[in-house]
Amino acid sequence: PRDWDPPFNITGDHLLDGLLTADFSRKSCRSRYEFAGYYNNNSSSHKPSPYLIAKLRKQESLQKRCGPGTAAYKNAVRRLDSGESVVNGDCRYLVYISYRGLGNRMLAIASSFLYAVLTDRVLLIDGGKDAGDLFCEPFPETTWLLPRPGWLSFFFSPLSRLQGYLGGSKESLGNLLQTGAVTMSASGDGNVSWSPASRSPPPYLYIHLSGGYGFHDKLFFCGAQQRLLGEVPWLFMWTDNYFVPGLFLTPPFTGELEAMFPEKGAVFYHLGRYLFHPTNAVWHAVTSYYHSNLAGARRRVGLQVRVFQKKQPPQVVLDQLLSCVRGEKLVPVTETTTAAANGSASSGDAVLVTSLSSWYYERVREEYGGRVAGGVHQPSHEGRQRWRDAAHDMRALSEMYLLSMCDVLVTSGYSTFGYVAQGLAGLRPWVMARAPMWADDWREGLDPSEPPCRRAASAEPCFHSPSAYDCAAGRDVELDKVTPYIRRCVDVKCGIKLV
Ligand code: GDP
Repeated sequence: PRDWDPPFNITGDHLLDGLLTADFSRKSCRSRYEFAGYYNNNSSSHKPSPYLIAKLRKQESLQKRCGPGTAAYKNAVRRLDSGESVVNGDCRYLVYISYRGLGNRMLAIASSFLYAVLTDRVLLIDGGKDAGDLFCEPFPETTWLLPRPGWLSFFFSPLSRLQGYLGGSKESLGNLLQTGAVTMSASGDGNVSWSPASRSPPPYLYIHLSGGYGFHDKLFFCGAQQRLLGEVPWLFMWTDNYFVPGLFLTPPFTGELEAMFPEKGAVFYHLGRYLFHPTNAVWHAVTSYYHSNLAGARRRVGLQVRVFQKKQPPQVVLDQLLSCVRGEKLVPVTETTTAAANGSASSGDAVLVTSLSSWYYERVREEYGGRVAGGVHQPSHEGRQRWRDAAHDMRALSEMYLLSMCDVLVTSGYSTFGYVAQGLAGLRPWVMARAPMWADDWREGLDPSEPPCRRAASAEPCFHSPSAYDCAAGRDVELDKVTPYIRRCVDVKCGIKLV
């Protein structure tokens, strides 16, 4: 039974133009229905295509038919346990293995979900301990969380292979291709098959799509390998990347994706808004902070400061941030503090700073505090990144959402935390360059003639480690020359993004 709050009249707006199903109670997950109320209409011009909507409804029924708790699921787990490789019925699975920070995880989940939709697989999330604290279930009447068997049985279960899997495994696609367990046809027509020794597909395979992955792992983005993967009942996905642009470059998926997303620069915008709904606790933190600090402003400017190198001098990062904000005139200010103090000529802007440190916030407040009517705000300063800490992740998630509610964004290059915010917002941020990891100080390795920030070409996240290999041609290609809707990212030289 659904526990609707009767007075709430659900309209097409609440359901994001048909992106969301109405098959959820409002009380269980307020953010599903309240989200739209916090976003400007300027981005609602990105409407989901009817084809995308149809695919989502189809996926929901697959998740329900084959998900945990069903007879089909029990059978599939039993067959995995006993090493059977046949696909029985139409239930095949894609398990996303969680690792890295929350932004990375959200981009990887969105990409895995799209791959599951394209290949008619059920997506299950091995979300770590706190996935249930962060997100509501996205699919009605089922769960997307991979059930963890009790400790002892887990130890003996094939799913225990997820534990401690660090990207290297003999059961990975890349390894099978490299060792010849999967063979390429001699005729050179790109056909691949299971080698005579194994002949049949294995019961499960790992897909390794993480930065620094090898040539053979990258063959995932080839049509022939995709046909073969379709025969494997369970796939375990190890990735920290937004690999969606790579799927657009994979021949069997290109046409389908173009039909689902006529607007290429709004893929994460739709996937993120479809999949991620903060739980009531997180949503309460987001909306109460918003109402106390940001709602009154005419315009909200979000500054996301993410510093990757410990030895980077903060002053240099601050100078970069401030010169970006000034140079691009992102925060119009009154010239005299007295004018602002008596409220006569203030700009009506509010500034939201997110960072692990409070130092940047304090400096920005010194600079702008008296000169913007809406004030300068920072919701938290966690000091450092923490692992397996639900409260920490909940704060991180609420800050991504608060940033996404801004009208203007400045983000730190390379940061997936910023990508999630810009993607949900549908905003093209101003992106600050990051010094290379090997640089001893910020200036080293940065071209002094570079501007402090550049405008991103779209709201899409950047795919940091794409494969340049053209499987049909058998050679590397210039990825930004293949199709007009894929370009290089402003922040990551070898990265690509949809525009
Ligand atoms: P990335 O490392 O910038 O690509 O982003 P991730 O989200 O993958 O990992 C960074 C993690 O550090 C986040 O998930 C948070 O746990 C933490 N973090 C980084 N910046 C902030 C911030 O501005 N606010 C909060 N609350 N946490 C942050």
